[in-house]
Amino acid sequence: MRRFLIGGNWKLNKGIIETSEFATYLLKKDLNINNIDVFIAPPFTSIPKALEVFANSTISIGAQNMFWEEKGAYTGEISPKFLKELGVQWVIIGHSERRAIFGETDEWVRKKLNMALHLGLKVVICIGETEEEREEGKEKEVVENQLKGAIEGVEFDASMISIAYEPIWAIGTGKTAKPSDAEEMHNLIRELLGEKGDKVRIIYGGSVKVHNAEELLLQENIDGALIGGASLDYESFAEILKIAGEI
Ligand code: PEP
Repeated sequence: MRRFLIGGNWKLNKGIIETSEFATYLLKKDLNINNIDVFIAPPFTSIPKALEVFANSTISIGAQNMFWEEKGAYTGEISPKFLKELGVQWVIIGHSERRAIFGETDEWVRKKLNMALHLGLKVVICIGETEEEREEGKEKEVVENQLKGAIEGVEFDASMISIAYEPIWAIGTGKTAKPSDAEEMHNLIRELLGEKGDKVRIIYGGSVKVHNAEELLLQENIDGALIGGASLDYESFAEILKIAGEI
């Protein structure tokens, strides 16, 4: 039995004041999330505040990115070792915005994955096709290549890795994959993971909102969600956590 994993990806939103306010309001809710795993990934500069305000809760803190070296002459990069030192438990790698805007490649994703695992950080690897690739019927090929590019040759414990299937056309657009289409892709990803497939959590991301969360989470191979926009609002994030906790 795989526990649900719900991640909130705040992207470049919420400084320390908003982080603190969000936690105050969210933690006042009756969350009942003992049977699921939850993390929030704020911007780097809000991470220490997030760690402080969520310290007495079961909500963990993640980072939205990291570099593949621990230290050195890499101006402007973020050391995974220092994230770990802060108390960060999760890291998102290969988000489509990083691939599209910052040129992140499968090779970078693999290098980051190896380093994160070496340091004991839990990883969410994001993969997913563009609208054009889906229209051309190439979505399975694209997802397979990204998955292989990220994990081929990497030794990992299934509990340390989750895959987020995030069709790019569904991210931040309000368009969601049909639960049956998402399920089909999750099933394929599970098969591609081979013997570890049963244990690795495969979560869905792409305009998950209160109104569609249940239908998506009820799919057999959807083990949670990576949530952008709806994680910024404590009411909707709390509602989605409640839905997940009650399934
Ligand atoms: C994301 O950023 O990973 C994401 C899924 O965003 P949204 O929920 O806003 O589509």
